[in-house]
Amino acid sequence: MLTRDEAEKLIQEVLAAYPPEAAEDRAKHLAVLDGEALEGGCGITANRKSLPGVMTIRGCAYAGSKGVVWGPIKDMIHISHGPVGCGQYSRAGRRNYYVGTTGINAFGTMNFTSDFQEKDIVFGGDKKLAKLLEEANALFPLNKGISVQSECPVGLIGDDIEAVAKKKSVDLNKPIVPVRCEGFRGVSQSLGHHIANDTIRDYILDRPKADDGIQAGPYDVAIIGDYNIGGDAWSSRILLEEMGLQVVAQWSGDGTLAELERTPKVRLNLVHCYRSMNYISRHMETKYGIPWLEYNFFGPSRIADSLRRIAARFDDRIKAGAEAVIAKYQPMADAITNRFRPRLEGKRVMLYVGGLRPRHVIGAYEDLGMEVVGTGYEFGHNDDYDRTQVDLKNTTLIYDDASGYELERFVERVRPDLIGSGIKEKYVFQKMGIPFRQMHSWDYSGPYHGYDGYAIFARDMDMTINNPCWKMMTPPWRQPNAA
Ligand code: SF4
Repeated sequence: MLTRDEAEKLIQEVLAAYPPEAAEDRAKHLAVLDGEALEGGCGITANRKSLPGVMTIRGCAYAGSKGVVWGPIKDMIHISHGPVGCGQYSRAGRRNYYVGTTGINAFGTMNFTSDFQEKDIVFGGDKKLAKLLEEANALFPLNKGISVQSECPVGLIGDDIEAVAKKKSVDLNKPIVPVRCEGFRGVSQSLGHHIANDTIRDYILDRPKADDGIQAGPYDVAIIGDYNIGGDAWSSRILLEEMGLQVVAQWSGDGTLAELERTPKVRLNLVHCYRSMNYISRHMETKYGIPWLEYNFFGPSRIADSLRRIAARFDDRIKAGAEAVIAKYQPMADAITNRFRPRLEGKRVMLYVGGLRPRHVIGAYEDLGMEVVGTGYEFGHNDDYDRTQVDLKNTTLIYDDASGYELERFVERVRPDLIGSGIKEKYVFQKMGIPFRQMHSWDYSGPYHGYDGYAIFARDMDMTINNPCWKMMTPPWRQPNAA
């Protein structure tokens, strides 16, 4: 592991390749942290525009709304409004598992697009959108509502999707939600999360409608910010229900419109991905008086800690339930740790991921005896970094909105035993001879949340790091002419 001095020197070396102005800007996004420098925040500048010419790994606002917040609501149709490319590229990529019959009462893996052509750019796409809403509703009549996810051209030509949605909502007698998530808005997909949260607030939660008459139960909770990748939310809800809580809504993986509508009556909102869903949780706190609590279900240490913190918000029955859940699953978790820790002890990990994983998975790696020596967010805000630094015990490189160049230089020097990042990084680092896990969609595996997920997480990390294939290739720095 690098010392603090070595890590700071490495950052300076990397910055030296940039022109002075770019180096000055990028210096604000790079740091060395060890969980000590808590006063006044961690000093990272985040959620700023990427530098032109410096390749970024970020997604756009449309990706944040369609891919994360709205897309996984399974019983609604989500139209990618604009040219076909954005929707096709984002289709089904995140593996948000759901129960339902696709095309009948669930639409999560289907791709609906208005397929803009040149004439739509010239003459506007509102009429096309109105027709599409009618057609989609006629073809799939069991849909519970429709969202319109704007792509860049729709905002650029000034279409009035709100007016179309308002009229068609009356005609079709179901919610139609226009989402102004054009990709050019904001600096990354992060603004797409916020915009999407605001439309859930305006078009679903605060929509005047007859009271459904459902009374809130004393243990009703909602899972907020779990996208059910590979079944994550299912592994999480088992634990909450076994401890005695009633999960009445899941946002948004395997979620439904009815669950969204029901949420303002829960007792506590349990927030897993703070970055994507803190906005709506704060709104429900202000308007409906529902408290919210962040939790972390990666790895047995953080799971037990989270279960106890959740239980502390309820009565003795739930507290006893949490202890019973921990007692039930801890032997299974210990068996997993005992099996895999000897194979993973001391291995060093570098991460570069999205909303919650750069900090949430640190504990799971530590449970397996591994160290996170570098971590960073594609689209984090300053409060994400403040939350991250308290989880860091060792000297850790931190990189915000890192460029491909920066990551490659860091990896060349640190030479971690494992990298966890996205699909765009995967093959670059594998070709450098470094084991890699795709940590946006669990590399087609999962779940990773909960005790069930810990078993799969541990197996996957072992399978990746200790795969014999790595011994059969010679990475560039071990080649005879390497510097
Ligand atoms: S930036 Fe615009 S054009 Fe590109 S994927 Fe996002 S919405 Fe589509």
